[in-house]
Amino acid sequence: MTDIKSMLPEELAVFLGAKGQPKYRADQIFKWLHAVGVGFDGMTDIPKTLRESLRADCIVPDVEIAAKQVSAIDGTVKYLFRLYDGEYIESVFMRYHHGNTLCISTQAGCRMGCKFCASTLRGLKRNLLAAEMISQIQAAMRDTGERVSGVVLMGMGEPLDNYDNVLKFLRLVNHPKGLNIGHRHISLSTCGLVDNIRRLAEEDLQITLSVSLHAPNDELRQTIMPIANRYSVDELLQACRDYEKRTGRRTSFEYALISGVTDTPELAEELGKKLKGSLCHVNLIPVNEIKERAFRTASRAAAAAFVKKLESFGITATVRRKLGSDISAACGQLRDEHETLVGE
Ligand code: SAH
Repeated sequence: MTDIKSMLPEELAVFLGAKGQPKYRADQIFKWLHAVGVGFDGMTDIPKTLRESLRADCIVPDVEIAAKQVSAIDGTVKYLFRLYDGEYIESVFMRYHHGNTLCISTQAGCRMGCKFCASTLRGLKRNLLAAEMISQIQAAMRDTGERVSGVVLMGMGEPLDNYDNVLKFLRLVNHPKGLNIGHRHISLSTCGLVDNIRRLAEEDLQITLSVSLHAPNDELRQTIMPIANRYSVDELLQACRDYEKRTGRRTSFEYALISGVTDTPELAEELGKKLKGSLCHVNLIPVNEIKERAFRTASRAAAAAFVKKLESFGITATVRRKLGSDISAACGQLRDEHETLVGE
């Protein structure tokens, strides 16, 4: 079966050309799949015979809302989506002054093994198809009746561990005949796969790179993030500087504040020294506690002192506002919950 929704218009044209179809069909079908967001049944200007032939050898991977929670505090919506093969993923719809942002998943599960994160607890189930990343956005827009103008690849999974499909997604989502979401409104968050950060820099996309740093040195980073055994902090920071040089985009760093582990004044000082002179921005995230792990969140005072220390090195830092805290929609709390659901 061919995944017809993960094809760019020019790829669709080749695929349909082999079926003896004229070029304009590719644009028509792309528009239905991406801008409108319907399957073969909804394609009213496509001849029935062609629709049936496509149905016979193509899939249109969609996502279906299996459960949904709306925050009573700020209207954040957390979706549990069922995929075509029965896997589950989560997305989070967030309302900001400047527009709505959707935090999407790029894998069902994750194999990176970060010690503080819920998404990795059951390992990696599978990579998502590009179409399944698009479908998360369409499903949220359909459900809320609102436009999504920004996307963050910060849900379940490690985007750079699913490189080809994520790249395809970035090209599809930005397409003027599709969802047409500007790359400048897209952030990709990675735990730091250095080789793929370097590859991404070569693609010349205007997306923001968000790097989950969480520690200023290898010793500490290795105790909380297995990826730190593969790449050193210095190698990672060099790749970020090169990404910045190549794309002109300022890198942002995520730094989870874990009480007594990552939030000390000494570590703030060490981080400040490491990042001094770069254009980056640091997002401090008081760690969200998950029940399987003993990590405790940093105090407000520790977070404020951390910001101050970084600022003394000329680095801008903000403590991230927590949206959807009553529905476990915050960073690192997304998890595969279908077993709980099935049990209900
Ligand atoms: N794999 C990617 C993207 C998904 S995680 C990455 O590692 O960046 C999105 C962000 O949430 C990352 O910065 C991640 O480190 C952070 N995170 C994970 N668990 C968290 C937790 N319990 N509290 C706060 N942030 C967490």
